[in-house]
Amino acid sequence: MATIFDKIIAREIPADIVHEDDLCLAFRDINPQAPVHVLLIPKKPIVNLADAAPADQALLGHLMLVAPAIAEKLGVGGAFRLNVNNGAAVGQSVFHLHLHILGGRSFAWPPG
Ligand code: AMP
Repeated sequence: MATIFDKIIAREIPADIVHEDDLCLAFRDINPQAPVHVLLIPKKPIVNLADAAPADQALLGHLMLVAPAIAEKLGVGGAFRLNVNNGAAVGQSVFHLHLHILGGRSFAWPPG
């Protein structure tokens, strides 16, 4: 099922895009929870991590390498947090896989 992130990929709705390549797109979260709060998504519409397949291994690895590059580009390369909400029960509200890249403030551990 298409989500709002598919519309951002298709440029049907605007977003503050900070990175794009053949496999993924990253844009600033519309409701930021930190000075830097970017969503990194694969262009392939994977619902969440639990829905990823072995064939997605290289794509998932790509996201894990792009995330720190984005953090570095945005000035928080030395201290950032990655968060993936997998399922509505833990806060997933958009059912297109996305990595939250958060930085620019301190974060508690464990997360709430
Ligand atoms: P999650 O709750 O983990 O599914 O995260 C979804 C995130 O998408 C939330 O942090 C929202 O603020 C963000 N979001 C929803 N719509 C948009 C949008 N149009 N542009 C940017 N971020 C969005």
